[in-house]
Order: sequence, then C-alpha cells, then structure tokens
Amino acid sequence: MTVPAPGTRTREFLDRSPHGLLIDGAFWPAADGRTFSTTDPATGAVLGELARAGAGDVDAAVAAARTALEGAAWTGTTPAERAKLLWRLADLLEADLQQLAELEVLDQGKNLRTARFGEVPAAINQFRYYSGWATKILGQTIPTSLSRTPVGREVLAYTRREPVGVVAAIVPWNSPLLMASMKLAPALAAGCTVVLKPAENTPLTAVRLAELVLEAGFPAGVVNVLTGYGHEAGQALAGHPGVDKVAFTGSTAVGKRLLRAAEGNLKRLTLELGGKSPAIVLPDADLTEAVEGISRGIFDNGGQVCVASSRVYAHRDVHDRLVEGMAAFGRGLRLGHGLDPEADLGPLVSTAQAERVEGYLREDGLEVVSGGRRSGALGTFVEPTVVTGVAQDHRIVREEVFGPVVTVTPYDDLDEVLAWANDSRYGLAASVWTQGFSSAHRVAHRIRSGTVWINCHSYLGPELPKGGHKESGWGYENGPQGLENYLETKTVVGLL
Ligand code: NAD
Repeated sequence: MTVPAPGTRTREFLDRSPHGLLIDGAFWPAADGRTFSTTDPATGAVLGELARAGAGDVDAAVAAARTALEGAAWTGTTPAERAKLLWRLADLLEADLQQLAELEVLDQGKNLRTARFGEVPAAINQFRYYSGWATKILGQTIPTSLSRTPVGREVLAYTRREPVGVVAAIVPWNSPLLMASMKLAPALAAGCTVVLKPAENTPLTAVRLAELVLEAGFPAGVVNVLTGYGHEAGQALAGHPGVDKVAFTGSTAVGKRLLRAAEGNLKRLTLELGGKSPAIVLPDADLTEAVEGISRGIFDNGGQVCVASSRVYAHRDVHDRLVEGMAAFGRGLRLGHGLDPEADLGPLVSTAQAERVEGYLREDGLEVVSGGRRSGALGTFVEPTVVTGVAQDHRIVREEVFGPVVTVTPYDDLDEVLAWANDSRYGLAASVWTQGFSSAHRVAHRIRSGTVWINCHSYLGPELPKGGHKESGWGYENGPQGLENYLETKTVVGLL
C-alpha cells in the first residue's frame, strides 16, 4: 500500500508528542502521568502519545471552566468581541486547513478529499456561522396582565437569555473536528465555557484546535480539552456536579448511559445519537442521480456517518437496475491510504470496527451482491458492499452497521415502504428519490426522522437544524436551534 508522507506542518505537530491536556489556558500532563497512544488505522503506525485524563484532571478542567464562566475576562467580553474571537478562530483553522485535514486522515483513516474539501471546511463554517449569532441573542419584553399589582403601578417584564454554564462536549471518532466544532461554536457564541473530550481513537485535531483556541485569544479556562477514554474521563465529566450541561454525540447505547450520569444535578442534556437512515426510491426517480447520491451517502467516509443511507427501499420496477448501479459504483471505488490521491476510500477507524461490520454479513439469508471482503495489514479496509435478500427483522436492517454496507429491498406500494422506513428505533434522517414534486413532499412529511432529503443525501450545513427523532437523540444542532442548547431563559418582572 502506498503511504504518502504528510506535509511539513503536520509532521511538526506530530513531533510535538506527547500532547498535553488544555486546562486553564496551558497544556499539562495528566495528574497521574498516564498517557495513551493513537495510531494510523491503515498501518498501525503510532502517531503520538497523549495525556490520558483521569478524574483529577476532570476536576481541574471543570474548576477552570467554572472560574472562567464567572470571571471578568469572559463575562466582560461583549457579544461583538465574542463574535470576533470566533471569527479569528475560523481564520486560524482555515490557515491550517491542509494540516488539520492530514491529521484527520492519519488519525481516523478518512480520505483526504473528504477531510480537505468536506469536513474541515464544514468545521470552519460552524465558527463563522455562530460568530454571526453571538450579537443576535435576544430576550423579549412581555406585556403582562397581572391582577394583583398595586393600583397605578406599571409592570416591566422581560426575558434575558443567559449561558447555560459549564458545558461538557463529548464527541465521537467518525468526523472528529467537525463534531467538536458543532458544539464549541454555538456554546462559545452563547457565552458558555467548555470542557471538550474527543474520542480516544481520534484525539489529534482536538489538540490542534486547543492550540488555535489559545492563539485566537480566548481567555484561559473558556475552552479546556481533555484527551482520554470514555469510561474514565468521559464518565467522570458526564457525572460531574460542576458541569451544567452535557452535549453528546455518539452511540445510542452510551447516550442512554448519560441519562443516568446527568441525573445527579439534573444537567441539561442534548444527545446526537445513532441512525439507520432509509433511502426510498420511487419508480419515477432519476436513477443515475439516485445511484450516485445513495452510493455516496453510504460509502463516503467508509459508511462511518450517522446519517448514512444504509437502508435502501427501491420500487420493484427499478430495484434491479439500482442494485446493479450501486454495485458498479462500489466496485469502482479504490481502497487505499487516505493520503493517497489515487484512493477513494480509506480504512475503517479500527480493526474492531471492521470486524463488527463484517459480522453483519454472516447473517443467514443475505445475498452479498458486491464487496464484503476485508483487507490491509490490520484488516481495517472493508470493500463497499451491496446486500440484498434482507427482511425487516434482519440485524443488518435493524442495527447501525457504521460501515460501507448497504441493504437494498424491493417494495410494491407506498404505504408498505413508509411502514418499513418508519419501522426502526432510529429516526435521524432519510431521503426520497423521485421526479414528482408532490410525492416527494408527501413522503417527506410521513417519515419520522429529523431530516428528510429529496434527491440528495447527507446534505448538511450549519444553518440546517439537525437532530434525531425517536432513539436517535434529544435536541437539535445547527441553526438557531443549535444555539438554544446553550441558553437558559430568565424572566425579570419589575414594578415601576
Ligand atoms: P461512542 O458512543 O462509543 O463514543 C462517543 C464518545 O463518548 C467518545 O468520546 C467516547 O470516549 C465517549 N464515551 C464512551 N463511553 C462513555 C461513558 N460511559 N461516559 C461518557 N462518555 C463516554 O460512539 P463512537 O463509537 O465514538 O461513534 C459512533 C456513534 O456516533 C455512532 O452510533 C454514530 O451514529 C454516532 N454519531 C451520531 C451523530 C449525530 O449527529 N447524530 C454524528 C456522528 C456520530
């Protein structure tokens, strides 16, 4: 396998290993001195050592975030100054776009095009978008009908929007920098302080982000970054009494555990969880468009995308042509190291993840039309795989595979396919493919999910609210809804 060398700036960053924890404006080793390493999932090469945060470090980071939340350096920052800080951070990220993209590729495995032209720019856009919101957080004045005011006294009643407080942002490994930015940008625009915990297998861009946060000029303690494990740092953070809100993106299983962790001080909690997103192809769909759009929706980033189009339902008239088209699309994708410009698809994030994905293909009754094999030094490369012959009760249809594996099922009538599409504990996203304006919107209205795309899939942006219905989550990110996650409302009533 060709493994091109990363650029000089990326190597400079990697050479700074071991990387510390950002607490109160400076980088520190873990209090107990422990570290862990992160590796390239294509080759197993060690990319660096990182401080492994434990409960003591969580205490220190939360204390720093609390002090910053109440200190003059942050509370005295005007909305316009917060906007400027966010914009400056976006500029610094942009200046380092290539380095950040390469780090993401090395750590996560994704293809450089995905990182360089998709995810890192999308992360930068989060800071630009919420920079604009920092100066537009408004309360209301409220005309009252109070019955017991002393005669002749006027009432002034209004609401203030205040930051929710110290935020624990816990993010997964599939799109590390983007997921972190989707939490940091609105939280900082709202005036919160943050303790960010990236996933243990993809911590590098979070560390680089931490360096750039300092360079941008955010006061000490406003952003703290703890690298470490979910069952240690993550769990300690989620249950910490000094944390006011947990903003979590990750699996539904861990999300449910966080409900219990948040119980102690009734933390606010938003959960962006798993998905099993259907793509419904109507008989009048433009099949060329559908084949490419749905294939990209499931194969990009090796299917490690929460909204991936993993369950396809195609009308019987077009089913076979769609299957053939998607199988050919998948076969045409070249597997290789993410930094190899000839490669389309990198490895999955770990051997364990690749084994998990492969396990779904061993279920009885499935027909693997194309793909299905694993390769590479660590067995982390999984071919784009198209599967038919599935029923609604197959695990591969019910569970989130989180790999480049798609099932395609024929249907005969619309009520049947809508029932199947909605027959899932997940409700994150869906797409409908048709040239009919009315049928597109009729289907969109009947699907129970947070997003429905028409003739496209995985079209996301900071201005488009995104969240899960059913067990795909609580709350919404992006857009004004994303800001709401980080604000409380206070009502002030005064007699004049
Ligand atoms: P995960 O739930 O295993 O881990 C997510 C994060 O939680 C990591 O930082 C991990 O260290 C931490 N964590 C693990 N156990 C914890 C605990 N007990 N307490 C506190 N923190 C803990 O998820 P993953 O495997 O990293 O990511 C894949 C999942 O993320 C998929 O299910 C995918 O659908 C989901 N995801 C959802 C969205 C969305 O927007 N809905 C976006 C991306 C990924």
